[in-house]
Amino acid sequence: EQEVAPDEEYLDSPPLAGANVMNVIVAAAECAPWSKTGGLGDVVGALPKALARRGHRVMVVAPRYGNYAEAQEVGVRKRYKVDGQDMEVTYFHAYIDGVDFVFLDSPVFRHIGNDIYVGKRTDILKRMVLFCKAAVEVCFLVPCGGVCYGDGNLVFVANDWHTALLPVYLKAYYRDHGLMIYARSVLVIHNIAYQGRGPEDDFVFVDLPSNYMDLFKLCDPVGGDHFNIFAAGLKTADRVVTVSHGYSWELKTPEGGWGLHGIINELDWKFQGIVNGIDTKDWNPKSDVHLKSDGYTNYSLETLQSGKAQCKAALQQELGLPVRDNIPVLAFIGRLDHQKGVDLIAEAMHWIVGQDVQLVLLGTGRPDLEEMLKNFQRQHGDNVRGWVGFSVKMAHRITAGADVLLMPSRFEPCGLNQLYAMMYGTVPVVHAVGGLRDTVHQFDPYGETGLGWAFERAEANRLIDALGNCLRTYRTYKSSWEGLQKRGMMQDLSWDNAAHRYEEILVAAKYQW
Ligand code: ADP
Repeated sequence: EQEVAPDEEYLDSPPLAGANVMNVIVAAAECAPWSKTGGLGDVVGALPKALARRGHRVMVVAPRYGNYAEAQEVGVRKRYKVDGQDMEVTYFHAYIDGVDFVFLDSPVFRHIGNDIYVGKRTDILKRMVLFCKAAVEVCFLVPCGGVCYGDGNLVFVANDWHTALLPVYLKAYYRDHGLMIYARSVLVIHNIAYQGRGPEDDFVFVDLPSNYMDLFKLCDPVGGDHFNIFAAGLKTADRVVTVSHGYSWELKTPEGGWGLHGIINELDWKFQGIVNGIDTKDWNPKSDVHLKSDGYTNYSLETLQSGKAQCKAALQQELGLPVRDNIPVLAFIGRLDHQKGVDLIAEAMHWIVGQDVQLVLLGTGRPDLEEMLKNFQRQHGDNVRGWVGFSVKMAHRITAGADVLLMPSRFEPCGLNQLYAMMYGTVPVVHAVGGLRDTVHQFDPYGETGLGWAFERAEANRLIDALGNCLRTYRTYKSSWEGLQKRGMMQDLSWDNAAHRYEEILVAAKYQW
């Protein structure tokens, strides 16, 4: 097999940033591979590298939850007041793949491990207050390659409610006082379901002048008047990005905006949807490190059929399922949460196990849903595996070995697993919502177009309909199936295109007065 030259994948990339080159600081509560609970961590691990490849000077700022071997202490200390208490922050730095990774160290972040959002609501809030106060100042405090970023030509990219205070601090502590006037902020919405809501008393924790209270006040007809961090961030940021176009649209509806749709409609002019890319180094069947042992194999478009068959057999073997090449293997990977619709699979279970298929589920989350996964395996052990745990290795192996990925999410801002699946020739069956609607175009058997099945309405019978059609195509129309797989694999889902789009937003923010 001919290996593709490393540079070839960038040949079609958009032109580099040129005169638009900026200093970019991406601040987030998680960053893969050091910390990750979901898609946010993946994005923060990958987008900055793609922006750096375009010529920007890029820093990621994240909490230091553990001892990260790559990062060295820079010898800078700074104290911040949080809820009346003095808290010291020290800074660690690593330069990897063209990006400065800066980790903020404090006793409140240590020992959290991968349980990033553990603790009482107010404890999480205080952690994020400390983080955002310190993150705004990294541009002055942390020399990277000997030189600080400074505040000229600078754009902060904050992510979700956890760092939504950053744009607010930039304004309240600096810009209101004529400082950092060239710095801008963009806030990215990965998931609006988590907003940093609390009673209005929470205002005392964020340490802002009293005239800032109104920014946080939200009158929600369902939830009542409350304090809302995401609301303040959305109002203050210069631009807002959502992780797909579909999600951007859904956020403006009462069902999709989770109480923030009123504000989002008013601020429509600053919203832009950009579908996430994927890390094509990590998630690439040609080079995936998790496929190099235990009977799995790397494969490409050219070796798809034999390579995938070998991975499927290895997966069946590893999970103790009967090794059969003609039985479709269905998979589910994700957080076990109402959002991900794993309960719809449960509702459809009776039908699914009657179809001569194998089903593999991998997830962690709500205890009752974890128990449900284990029960599936107890009841249908011949054909079903319910793996409760967070295993990156198994996520890769299942993605490679399965024929079909089920993603019946009730809502899905972008969704990464369907993108990974398509890169591996695994056909997605999804609820047509948010990013899933944007990325999984419905298969059309007449035109031989489309990438999978996308059903309307998150209901078990809709899932069954779509999956039924999918299985019929798998069993009867081999060339259609191969077409689906190959179209999925041939897409350019890399971050390079998405980074170009982000750059347009950063430029728009920069020239905003
Ligand atoms: P979300 O951010 O809502 O959790 P995404 O689809 O955007 O959903 O991203 C989920 C990411 O987390 C993917 O990289 C997926 O492979 C990974 N993931 C989710 N659950 C698990 C698990 N149990 N084991 C390993 N990886 C998981």
